[in-house]
Amino acid sequence: MSNAEGFILEKESFPNLISLLMKEADEVYGPKEVNAGVYDFRKINKPEEVRLGEVTTVTPPLKKVVRPPFEVLFKFKGEEIEVDYDSKIRAIVGVHPCDVNGLKLLDKAYSNAGKDPYYFSRRSNLIIVAENCTRADDNCFCTSFDTGPELREGYDLLMTDIGNRYLVEVGSVNGEKLVTKLNLPHAKDEDLKEKNTRINLVKGTIRKKLNTVNLKRTMEGSLYHPIWKELGEKCLSCGICSVVCPTCFCFEMDDKLNLDQKSGVRYRTWDSCMFFEYSEVALGGNFRRARSARIRQFINHKLNYWVDQFGTFGCVGCGRCIRQCPANIDIVEVARRIGGS
Ligand code: SF4
Ligand code: SF4
Repeated sequence: MSNAEGFILEKESFPNLISLLMKEADEVYGPKEVNAGVYDFRKINKPEEVRLGEVTTVTPPLKKVVRPPFEVLFKFKGEEIEVDYDSKIRAIVGVHPCDVNGLKLLDKAYSNAGKDPYYFSRRSNLIIVAENCTRADDNCFCTSFDTGPELREGYDLLMTDIGNRYLVEVGSVNGEKLVTKLNLPHAKDEDLKEKNTRINLVKGTIRKKLNTVNLKRTMEGSLYHPIWKELGEKCLSCGICSVVCPTCFCFEMDDKLNLDQKSGVRYRTWDSCMFFEYSEVALGGNFRRARSARIRQFINHKLNYWVDQFGTFGCVGCGRCIRQCPANIDIVEVARRIGGS
């Protein structure tokens, strides 16, 4: 669908969009201020709770919704199995370009060995109302992967703050229906120009950069680089970097048995290559016993192995792993020290 045409939503009418989404969807999520100056996506109960225009939230909204940290795969009783796919309609408002692009990467990961039915049941029922960035911070580096600050696809509606109103662009049939129901007026040429001006302004503020030309080859040659030993001494192995990363997709599965020892549930939870137990094998073996080996794996997976697995880098430059790391480990600085630019 062409994005050449846009519509106008006055800021004072933004609550109408949220109210409409509350009617159309079973659940609506949006960015909320969860602590002073700290924003994260939560369920929205009333339109005033949504806080647009802030930088990327602490955790990645789309990953949390399509692949929740804990999910029951099926219930069992003896040999009987009961599967219940989650097909709730969820609308997510205010998603940044890097996160929509992160979802595209998760789609690849969860289609790799056949489509994961749990993931795609949720994924196919999402209504994504994205928001182009009009602010960035020192850790954003989306321009390096062309994943922001402007979104080009993957949304139902795309909003850009152009002053006292939003330019709203339509990216799907669902988005078109929403715009029709809201009866939004068409945008004018100057509104589209204003959008481009604001996007270019924010692009100019993104100073963190990673040159992706030859990056994979540089990382391939890094296996024995002394930096891993140094980082292994700093890294706490807390796994925060992988929890907040919109493209980390590893999980572990387990069974929870009821007291009858015959019935229970099989569930899966997020897992992380940064944890010691992640690479444990039988008889006490462990392929990545040292923290240096685990941080090497995390960074090489994003900037090297993803290309082999899925044909693209596994990073969208959201900067979350840098912002949240208690040991101040910075993936861009690491790649630069290894020889990137
Ligand atoms: S790199 Fe940072 S966030 Fe990641 S496990 Fe190490 S200390 Fe935790
Ligand atoms: S590796 Fe870091 S910067 Fe890249 S997508 Fe993950 S959290 Fe964002």
